Amino acid sequence: MKPNQSLQLTLAILKPHVVKSPFALQSIRDLIIDEGFKVVRSRRTIIKPMEAELFYADHKKKFFYNRLLTFMCSGPSDIHILAAKDAILKWRRLMGPTKVYHAQFDAPDSIRGKYGLSDTRNATHGSDSPESAAHEIGIFFKDFSTEQWYESEEIFYNLGMIKFDPLAFVHTIDKSQDKSEAKPNLE
Ligand code: ADP
Ligand code: MG
Repeated sequence: MKPNQSLQLTLAILKPHVVKSPFALQSIRDLIIDEGFKVVRSRRTIIKPMEAELFYADHKKKFFYNRLLTFMCSGPSDIHILAAKDAILKWRRLMGPTKVYHAQFDAPDSIRGKYGLSDTRNATHGSDSPESAAHEIGIFFKDFSTEQWYESEEIFYNLGMIKFDPLAFVHTIDKSQDKSEAKPNLE
């Protein structure tokens, strides 16, 4: 990662029970936009068992590992690369605590407080460090290079030279809005 970069990337997953629930899905999408995240890439996919194994390799020994994998592969998930200042911490704060009862008691307005159904079906995923963000992005967006994004795309997201496609739920670069050349209309 470059020093002094102003946008950070994180990987967010809206887990299968959220994607099945139109109200929860829309309200989490609204929150992402209202909180100022830029949606750099989006895809909807049924996570393959091999991808889930790689993604949750650190949890292989945990008692909930099998149920976690079964759940994560049980239906479509929405997977997003989000950009914002301090995106990792910001998204994790919005998600709330991992365990649903902690979330419901300590952070009832958080995503997990509102839409978590159980410790496993806790609505969303968020990367926990820049290293894990880069690793997780690599699992689900194989043709995305974080380094290249910082070199050639970050500036446009940073300057707001982007447009939002609500159906695809993604911000794309829009070079026609060159804000550095915007002049006041004096007529
Ligand atoms: P987080 O998603 O907040 O980073 P972890 O990395 O510890 O949390 O766990 C990964 C995922 O495993 C959680 O999001 C949740 O789906 C599941 N999980 C974690 N702890 C438990 C638990 N005690 N029982 C069941 N599932 C759990
Ligand atoms: Mg984690």
